Amino acid sequence: MTHQERQWLACHALGVSSAALLAHPELYERRSVQALFRRREAGEPLQYILGTAPFRGRDLHVGPGVLIPRQDTETLITAALELVPYEEPFTFLDWGTGSGCIAVTLLLERPDSFALMVDRSPAALKYAEENLKRYGLEARARLIRSETPDDIILEERCALVISNPPYIPTEDIPGLMREVRDHEPHSALDGGPDGMDCYRLLFRHAPRWLGPRGLLILEMGDARQAEAFRSSPPAGFTFLREFLDDGGNPRCAVWQYLG
Ligand code: GLN
Repeated sequence: MTHQERQWLACHALGVSSAALLAHPELYERRSVQALFRRREAGEPLQYILGTAPFRGRDLHVGPGVLIPRQDTETLITAALELVPYEEPFTFLDWGTGSGCIAVTLLLERPDSFALMVDRSPAALKYAEENLKRYGLEARARLIRSETPDDIILEERCALVISNPPYIPTEDIPGLMREVRDHEPHSALDGGPDGMDCYRLLFRHAPRWLGPRGLLILEMGDARQAEAFRSSPPAGFTFLREFLDDGGNPRCAVWQYLG
């Protein structure tokens, strides 16, 4: 645990400022502070203990049962803002919304948008709902609990389907960092034998949700996955563009629906 983490945890436990801790270092010995240190030392993610995680400069509510927003996922926001024209209001579907980080951010950055936020996990949807409330966005979104894409029936077509689906190959899950493997929901990580189950599912179902020339914006696990759907795009789609994350990896790929 770094000094910075100890400080954040102590401030959180006691509701005091870091200046107060500096003036009263004995506060670190308080039982409530030590209890949080023990959770952190046992490998629980800092964001779960603090109950928040930053995403594109905003704090979102997170906790056990929901994937912690990653900075890589901000690449999807960059892509959406660049590719969706400003001409008219639009609806987008965020598949596997989790904490709602993608949808909440897009709603805030594009005040002319409406979100359909889909997840299988009731726990995740609770965090998504809280994050909508946190930013006063309840009226601009619909939360949809979905067991399988078949049960998502829309009254109107979307301009955009956006998703950070689970994409880690099942056999790689045991080798993930302990913090991730032991605490974050595997349903948000495990993408099946080659990690691409959800991509196939999305390409199959997105034509029912997308309007003409609609966009499918996906977070990709690695270059191999992006390449798999890029060189021979699934029926009805054409490959549009790729966006790199801050580490220079192809993190986001975009297809256009031709229907
Ligand atoms: N990027 C996440 C991780 O490395 C995985 C998220 C996902 O599977 N979509 O932990």
